[in-house]
Order: sequence, then structure tokens, then C-alpha cells
Amino acid sequence: MSELELTFVGTGNAFAPDGLCWNGFVANGRYLFEAPPSALMALHRAGIDPNALDGVIISHHHGDHFLGLPSLILHWKYNGRERPVTIVGPPGTVQLARSIGEAVYPGLFEGRFEIQWVEAAPGECIQLGQLEIEPVEVAHDTRLSLNLGYACRLDGRRFAYTGDTSLCDGVLDLARTNEVLVSECASRDNYIPIHMNLVDDIPHVRAAMARDATLILTHLTPDVDDYGLERTIVARDLKSYRF
Ligand SMILES: [Zn+2]
Repeated sequence: MSELELTFVGTGNAFAPDGLCWNGFVANGRYLFEAPPSALMALHRAGIDPNALDGVIISHHHGDHFLGLPSLILHWKYNGRERPVTIVGPPGTVQLARSIGEAVYPGLFEGRFEIQWVEAAPGECIQLGQLEIEPVEVAHDTRLSLNLGYACRLDGRRFAYTGDTSLCDGVLDLARTNEVLVSECASRDNYIPIHMNLVDDIPHVRAAMARDATLILTHLTPDVDDYGLERTIVARDLKSYRF
């Protein structure tokens, strides 16, 4: 069985508490999940060449998940990228990325490489090179176009990512069917309506998973721990985990 490696470019929630980088991770060095504002800095610090990325997969349009895109594209434009890159996100991603990117860096999209945009909808199957992803609708900010989690297959391994969400059927479906689940856990015991917390929600997520599956918590406050749950890891900034 081939190895699955997840490297966290950040593990903090929207407030970057205590200096945690905003949440995002890279699968097998090639696929970046989320484009937080600190993504480019964190990729460099983690020793991942941004030009080695084949794709960026965004769950929803909140700034801590999306606003790092202009810096990534700027890097690619001026640091030798020639290979195409695929950017996946909810409906409206192309228009939003283009309007913000062009406003903050005029000419940003005049690079030598092609951006292949994919606006994802639940029930589709999207192929990015070796990565196959299936978007799942989750329950987060209904004022945004759509909030997505993703079920993924990469090099024969199955993992999933919840995106930002409260506890919902989409999360439990991802929990039941994957060997590794990267789950948001936005606080320890504070009730935040559009998020999950460690004490009230995460035990239900863990209980839905197979016993030999691994749960990784991210989008954190620093007081989140494993709460004694089996096969549960609290992700750390710039750390890699192999399965
Ligand atoms: Zn959010």
C-alpha cells in the first residue's frame, strides 16, 4: 500500500489564536487543501516547493481559507512555473479569485502557466492528476455560495476533509467511509453555531469512524487536545503525518 502524507501548513481557526497559522494541509506534496493567507509562507517553511503543487482545493470562501490564492499565483508567475495548475472551489470561485487577484496584483493572471478552474458541486467526481475528489455539502455559512467537504482517493488511499462545518450528515458520511479524516474542531467547549467543538461534537465524529481509521483535528484553538479519543491526533503547524 502506498503512503499517504499530510503536511499541515497551518492548524489555527479564523483568529489564528496564539499565532497558529491559518488552517490548510498538503497531501503527498502535490495537493494543497485551502489557500489561507499564510499558505505561501508556510509552504516555504515546511520545505514544500510551491511550484510542485498540482492543485489547490478550497472548501469555501471565508478569508482564512481563500485569501492566500493571490500570493500563490504571484509566486507561480514570477518564480518559473510553466506547468498548469488546477484550482477547485465552490461555485463563484473563478469570479471571486479573478476580481480579488486582479485588484491586489494587476496583471496577476498574465503568467506563462495555465490555471484550470473547477467549480465543484456535490455528487460530482473530479480528477486532478492522481487525486480523485468528491465534494460533499456541509453546514457552515449559508450566505456563501456553497460550503464543501471532500472525499478523496490518492495513490490508492482514502481520506477526507470536512472543511468548516457544524456536525451534519455530510460530516458523518465522510467519517464512516474513510481511513483518515481531517476534521475541523474550532474550539474546545465553546458553542459556535457554524462550527464543531471538541467536547460536544468530535466524539460523535469519532464514533462514526471505523476503529482503525484515524481522526486528525485542525482549525483549532490551542486548548484543543485529543480528549482521550482513540486514534485521534491534534495537528500541529508545519508537521507531517504519514499513514
Ligand atoms: Zn469558515
